[in-house]
Amino acid sequence: MIAHVGTDGRYRFGNDAHLHWFGVGPDALPGLSVADVLGEDAFATMESALTGVRMGDRRSVEVRLAASPVSPARQAQIDLVPEQNDDGIIVGYYMLARDITELKRAEALLRESNSNLQREVRDRTEALAGSQKRLAALFESSFQLQVMLDLEGRVIDANRAFTSAILSERADLVGQPIVMSAFFAGSPGVGAEISGSVTRAASGQASKHEMELALPTGKRSFEVSVRPLFDMDGLPGALVIEAVETTARRLAEQALRQSQKIEAIGQLTGGIAHDFNNILTIIAGSAELAKIVIERLPGAERASRALDNTLKGVSSAASLTHRLLAFARRQPLRTEAVNCNQQVLGMEDMLRRTLGELVQLKLLTSPNLWNVEVDASQLEAAVLNLAVNARDAMPEGGTLTIEVSNTHVSDADAAALPEANAGDHVMVRVRDTGAGMSEETLARVLEPFFTTKEVGRGTGLGLPMVYGFVKQSRGQLILASEPGAGTSVTMLFPRTNKAVAHADFVVAPVVDAMRHSATVLVAEDNDDVRAYVVEVLREVGYRVLEAHDGPAALRLLERSDVTVDMLFSDIVMPAMSGWDLAQKARQIHPHLRVLFASGYPRNVEDNEHEIRNVGLLSKPFTRSELTGAVASVLEKPALVES
Ligand code: ADP
Ligand code: MG
Repeated sequence: MIAHVGTDGRYRFGNDAHLHWFGVGPDALPGLSVADVLGEDAFATMESALTGVRMGDRRSVEVRLAASPVSPARQAQIDLVPEQNDDGIIVGYYMLARDITELKRAEALLRESNSNLQREVRDRTEALAGSQKRLAALFESSFQLQVMLDLEGRVIDANRAFTSAILSERADLVGQPIVMSAFFAGSPGVGAEISGSVTRAASGQASKHEMELALPTGKRSFEVSVRPLFDMDGLPGALVIEAVETTARRLAEQALRQSQKIEAIGQLTGGIAHDFNNILTIIAGSAELAKIVIERLPGAERASRALDNTLKGVSSAASLTHRLLAFARRQPLRTEAVNCNQQVLGMEDMLRRTLGELVQLKLLTSPNLWNVEVDASQLEAAVLNLAVNARDAMPEGGTLTIEVSNTHVSDADAAALPEANAGDHVMVRVRDTGAGMSEETLARVLEPFFTTKEVGRGTGLGLPMVYGFVKQSRGQLILASEPGAGTSVTMLFPRTNKAVAHADFVVAPVVDAMRHSATVLVAEDNDDVRAYVVEVLREVGYRVLEAHDGPAALRLLERSDVTVDMLFSDIVMPAMSGWDLAQKARQIHPHLRVLFASGYPRNVEDNEHEIRNVGLLSKPFTRSELTGAVASVLEKPALVES
């Protein structure tokens, strides 16, 4: 739009564009005021510029023109150029206007998109920084040991789990070959294995390794993976080594395997000892009988001595089977509430004698000690076994400490070990300053017959007995030893609330003068053993009934024409155990006396109550032990729980 305006602010001339912009053609324009045509508002924007123009300046203003009946509102740039006459006097001005509506809109759009872009860039930068921070936090806080490597196996970055496992700093590692780091360098052969997998990873192939590594923080097990990181083109751009610690899991697995192995050996041992006891019983009985017969003959001294030796042999074989049964947890236990302080103090003299001059004995008891429920004599045997082991480990002398105290096994501790139970326990710990044990020895000491001692000195049944006793007492056994650092064996027994004093029993009426006229019912499934028992008892004058199993024995007991004074029963029998038989028999005859022949009593724990109130004869037994036990059960007043 072009126009020429006089100093009076009125048009002299305007071009066609006025027609399109304002609906006023060039013919009608001259004489009209600019303010009228452009509108008051637009003109006001020009006012100050016009002042300058009247002084001879060129000005340029942007003006918003309102919509008119012929055109939409528009944005215009108006250049104002003063017109001077020859004398230099301002006589008017030119208005040169361009429609810049589109330009402005484009500018506005551009501005908007610019600011959008800025915002977006800012947002993205923040997000990136945030996600980087998160990734870094993830990397740094991971329990997994992580290292990033270049394709040659040199460290680019390592996380804290990794650096702290080898007690080093990130800065010391960066740029170094990973195989030279303390993570791998301390374990022979591992460097080559990792080098190989780094090379494979650089060509795109991941690998995994189970490793036990000697780190500056100790011997630890890991599952180590080496894998490539692919770049945008799908080529390996870097490598990652990740190590997941498996030490705790491995130890737990080892402990489980160990306990399963011991359990299996226990089953086997128990079975063998059981059969063996039956055989020994028959040998002992027959040898005794032979001796009685032979002693009536003249000149039988040598034969009689031979039989004595046979019986001696039987008795040492019997002590062997007893220890095997203890290991197999098949020992009949006479459990009672026990105070371990008193138990240990009561052993002091015997221990001093056993340990000799060179070994110093320290007994550390605790006040307010809880009670435990164990077989007191077995506890003594266990402590003695441990003391003897300690003595043997200290041939040059040393200190043996027996420590008794209350202790609590936490849920976490219990969960870490397959055989542990949480809760209050009493600890009896036997510690020495002796030679200690290698890892290999330590792994095998619970196996029966494992010994490192010379032939004739060790039987390899000490620790297995202790283990079996502790387990059967629902306790835990913890061994700790290192070569040169001594050995500590800890027995934990669950706390009981029972008092040490005896439970309340009343004495049942004594059936008097029963001996030699009493009737004994013998229940035993092994034909030979039964025949032997029956023979011996008949010989000394008892009336004897026999049953080859529990149900048969019950049928006899139910008969009204039969009175039975005592039940002699094997514990392990097919169809019905001795325990069950005794319980059912007592329902028929509440005051029936019971003598169990043990050797292999299963479920001893469930039947503690039973075992307290009856006689118990250990297999193998000699004739005199058998007759003695029968007599004492018959003569003693029966104890019946009130
Ligand atoms: P034995 O004493 O008959 O060898 P044990 O079962 O009592 O059988 O012990 C098995 C083995 O455990 C021993 O031969 C010995 O190597 C090792 N051992 C047991 N106790 C200790 C100890 N206190 N110090 C060092 N070694 C021990
Ligand atoms: Mg021993």
